[in-house]
Amino acid sequence: MDGLESKFQSLMARLAQSPLYREKLTAEQFAGASLSQLRELPLTTKDDLRRAGTFGHLAVERKRIAQYHESTGTTGEPSASWFTAEDMVAGGQQLAACGVKLNADDLVLIRFPYALALPAFLMQQAAWQCGAGVVPASGRTVVTSYPRVLELLERLRVTVIAGLPREMELLAETARLLGAQPSAAYPSLRAICVAGELMGESRRRHIERLWGVPVFNMYGSTETGNIAVMCEFGSMHVSQEDFIVESLIEDGSAPAPAGERGFAAITTLSHQGSPLLRYFNGDILTLEPPGCPCGRHTAKLKHYGRGRDRIRIGAIVLDGYDLQEAVYTIAPAPDAWLAIELEHGLQIVLDSHASDQWEADVLERTLSSKLRVPVTVTISSDARLMDRDALVLNVPSTKPVYIQKRQREEGSL
Ligand SMILES: [Zn+2]
Repeated sequence: MDGLESKFQSLMARLAQSPLYREKLTAEQFAGASLSQLRELPLTTKDDLRRAGTFGHLAVERKRIAQYHESTGTTGEPSASWFTAEDMVAGGQQLAACGVKLNADDLVLIRFPYALALPAFLMQQAAWQCGAGVVPASGRTVVTSYPRVLELLERLRVTVIAGLPREMELLAETARLLGAQPSAAYPSLRAICVAGELMGESRRRHIERLWGVPVFNMYGSTETGNIAVMCEFGSMHVSQEDFIVESLIEDGSAPAPAGERGFAAITTLSHQGSPLLRYFNGDILTLEPPGCPCGRHTAKLKHYGRGRDRIRIGAIVLDGYDLQEAVYTIAPAPDAWLAIELEHGLQIVLDSHASDQWEADVLERTLSSKLRVPVTVTISSDARLMDRDALVLNVPSTKPVYIQKRQREEGSL
């Protein structure tokens, strides 16, 4: 039995301890499953997890749990996971494989929220495993306001910042408001690691320009842990030792055609606390075969956003990625944006400290042509999208909203 098959067999043994899977899988499926027949096993949906409850996918005794994590999406529906001490170590190893190559000379400022959410703790594990030091500077709290984080970056000579992409944009804007240029003000800074939000290439280049350092992305979720990390050549490599990632058609019944966007199904091979089989998490992605100048021999993943953010206008299908890519190719790139779905097109609200360089009709033509749907542009001149007064005060950040879909009749799609 090869390494992956043996990992899969121990996953099946762990799933037999999980109330959700004891109900979901038959005795034959438990007894006869092999990795090659993965596609014959049922998907696990978000609804399955919701129905099973917080303890439904717990597969170890409670005394083995080291941490519990929970996140709440824009729908208010919590996603949960359980981690043993070994799971935390494995999660750190997955992040440590990132192209940022953390080392003992690094001091990593962690801006991910430390309350309930997972990324801060995995990043901390990764930093410690590489010998790096950590500055816990949690987002979403009055303890570490934006100006205070900037002061810490400078005084402690921080080398790497880790947090949501949005936080990198807000910190850069705060620096600007305080009279500093982020790409010059923090000479010790050498890289930024981001996770937790959709981040396409144009947004990544924008954040790289703001700070003058390379930006590395990571892809994962609270339920699964971190699935892929970016290498030094900008590819998102799947942690194949620990995850099987499938890309399926929208109803999950078959693989998506090669090269086309599909819906993710994630199998956690190593996770002990709350393992998942073919978790159909609603994310849209493509998978590319191995092959990268970095030398990593693992599949490459590209994330396009969530299925429920997908907008259809006539025959045109737009994912969060398409909207983000279009918006970040505007010059100057916006400091904040919101795309509102209308019946026959989009309204895009844009905010920039340099909006006097924009002309609404030029932006409308550019965005309409990129997105292939009618776009009206509103240039925001108030605090609707970004409250700059709050940034320089002691006001905690809130969860950003980028896409606002139309309200539909109950029961319609
Ligand atoms: Zn690579």
